[in-house]
Amino acid sequence: MTVLSNDQNKEYDSFSLIVKVRVIVPMLTHDSQNAHSEFDYLSDSSSKIQIGNIVKVSLANKITWGVVYGFKHETNIAHTKLKSIISISSVPPIKSFNLKFLERVSQYTMAPFGQVLRAMLCIQSAFKDDKSINYFSLSSSNKFETDKLSKSRKEIINWFQNNPIGTANAIIAETGVSKSTVNAMVKCGQLAKNLFSSIQNEDVQSKLLSLKKAMQSAKKLNLSSMQAEAALGINQQSDKFSVVLLDGVTGSGKTEVYFELVKKKILLGKQCLILLPEIALTSGWVNRFNKWFGFEPYIWHSGIKASKKKLIWRDVNAGFPGVVVGARSALFLPFANLGAIIIDEEHDTGYKQEEQFIYHARDMAILRAKYSQCPIVLATATPSLESWINKISGRYHHIKLTNRYGDATMPAIETINLIKYKPPSGKWISAPLISAIKNRLVSKHQVLLYLNRRGYAPLAICSDCGVKQSCQQCDSLLVTHKIKNQLRCHQCGVSRPFKNACQSCGQVETLQLIGPGVERLAEEVYSLFPGARVTILSSDILNNPIQIAKTIQSIEAGEVDIIIGTQMVAKGHHFPKLTCVAVIDGDLGLSGGDLRAGERTFQMLSQVAGRSGREKQAGSVYIQTAEPEHPAIVALKSRQRDEYLRLELEMRLTANMPPYRRLAAIIYTSLNEVALAAYVKKLIVFKPQFEEVDIYGPAPAPIYQIKKRYRMRFLINAPKSVNVQKIIRDWNASIRVPHNIKRQIDIDPYNFM
Ligand code: ADP
Ligand code: ZN
Repeated sequence: MTVLSNDQNKEYDSFSLIVKVRVIVPMLTHDSQNAHSEFDYLSDSSSKIQIGNIVKVSLANKITWGVVYGFKHETNIAHTKLKSIISISSVPPIKSFNLKFLERVSQYTMAPFGQVLRAMLCIQSAFKDDKSINYFSLSSSNKFETDKLSKSRKEIINWFQNNPIGTANAIIAETGVSKSTVNAMVKCGQLAKNLFSSIQNEDVQSKLLSLKKAMQSAKKLNLSSMQAEAALGINQQSDKFSVVLLDGVTGSGKTEVYFELVKKKILLGKQCLILLPEIALTSGWVNRFNKWFGFEPYIWHSGIKASKKKLIWRDVNAGFPGVVVGARSALFLPFANLGAIIIDEEHDTGYKQEEQFIYHARDMAILRAKYSQCPIVLATATPSLESWINKISGRYHHIKLTNRYGDATMPAIETINLIKYKPPSGKWISAPLISAIKNRLVSKHQVLLYLNRRGYAPLAICSDCGVKQSCQQCDSLLVTHKIKNQLRCHQCGVSRPFKNACQSCGQVETLQLIGPGVERLAEEVYSLFPGARVTILSSDILNNPIQIAKTIQSIEAGEVDIIIGTQMVAKGHHFPKLTCVAVIDGDLGLSGGDLRAGERTFQMLSQVAGRSGREKQAGSVYIQTAEPEHPAIVALKSRQRDEYLRLELEMRLTANMPPYRRLAAIIYTSLNEVALAAYVKKLIVFKPQFEEVDIYGPAPAPIYQIKKRYRMRFLINAPKSVNVQKIIRDWNASIRVPHNIKRQIDIDPYNFM
């Protein structure tokens, strides 16, 4: 491992030093010697340079950014060939504990270091000095007699009566005078010209002061005695690294409990990071935050403008106290002064990032808390088995909230047996559910129908030739989206217009649409409950944060009677008027599933059920199912969560599966099927043999082709004490990956497709 200087504050006279710079360019092969993306540079300027400095360098004739990881006096590269660092950013250096964190993430996930570093150095405009801007103000000497001035000069002087300072553009736009007048006034001393080139205008102390002031004027949190006790329990762990599992039923007010910790940390001048599993949850969360804190948190997700992100990045890196709330990518911000991390809905599989580099944000957040020596709170009503087993072993502190906040009670859960109450063909709402919904509508309550299927119908089949319409570049059936009039592949996202013609035989008007999606369910709802105000919450229909926030607000305001939603609605929301939740297909997640199918279904159904009756009015939940005796459904109905977790754990233990063991998947993909087959065959020859380590495969992935690439998988199942990363590294080092084959390593996979 590279030496990180023990003393980051040490500055070096750069002259004659060779600087080790790690760049944000992923070096793909783990078997190559430079998986760290580290290169030597000279620093020829007279500037001071230290570990953590962000520097601009040239690599393979391209300008890129990197971080100084160390220094040395000698290098194998001829000095004549060494390039110089182009410039050093004036933002504060990245803290060494953050650099170590990145290193650990790269080691664990096996993602190339340059890729992990890029996640932290994600906003390049933040490192560049801002262009200096000239500001003008009235000269303090006031050496002019107003009545002797020209009309345009008078205009300008008048303008300054209401504006203490202004840029030339602002003055010209608002007074209509010319630039030369402004310049002339500067020349003769009537206006003063000031240059601002500040990367940071505020200092930490004044920022803290303004946050404290805002908090004094905010509403006071009125915690119930159960919440207060929980908050106290968390705060007792809060001055060091510790993991707290905040385990509270839906509606118990977990948010308000962890707000106490956030408050405490802000008052100490620290930074807090709150991760939410879904962007759609941000606006509701922010409203609650504003109410109790009186200031704005920093919001970080893919919908935030780059100019805003630049400012957030700088504040975070400068160690300014504050709160960042966001999606998993916020985990990689360069927090210089982290005081606490909260993972809301820790069980949510949305925390697993499957693109670019593959990591689990909850697990990496725990690492991050360790390196920042701060507490981390995992909040949930349905803990993941991974966290639960750590609770059992005593590694995590367990804090429980058993009741809902205020007058709210837990909703009653009923199952509706779909075999007994089968809806007519092409319909999905059973008779008992129809009457339950009618009752709620009469009492002016809201109803939520949950169906985790986007679009109109999951299958389009030709009634003439029997061919299922499928994607041309994936092994995947096309989903009909009626609102957009498309057939769409949910694997690769490609769509084509819905023409009602078979892709195989070309016959028109022959496509039969099979099965329900949220759009089709909406059709049924319109015809069953005419006059009801219906809204669909699905990522295809609402795809930007502003639209989502607006829809959520209208639901909160009671402007909607029936909400139809995918998993997007199941999590976290608090809709005061919602008292009836119905799960249209309770069996959907259970069929053909992977090792977590039962666990995930239980979590999802508990979450969606948890949206019902969160205020005074008691709520009900109806689950339509053909398998009312399935353990996940029985446990949900009888509120035997812990018993269900125990059963699941038992099954995992017998099956030798996580959380008792560690899985790692290696997926090789190629456009060339023959080359891929030949390569994986070679890998078999070098397959490592270790006691207690099972390596399955190669096997074609269940979705064998995605975006035209063929996919072969290996799956490693090893005891947790075994270093699987090393096994993979050594194995791969034995045979180079050819250029036409890509390798993806997924440690702790959640997706087995
Ligand atoms: P959970 O996240 O545990 O499902 P929430 O945090 O959404 O539950 O809380 C449920 C509701 O109770 C929310 O509307 C929340 O604002 C309210 N609530 C919880 N605690 C308090 C409190 N101490 N004071 C006022 N309102 C609270
Ligand atoms: Zn596709």
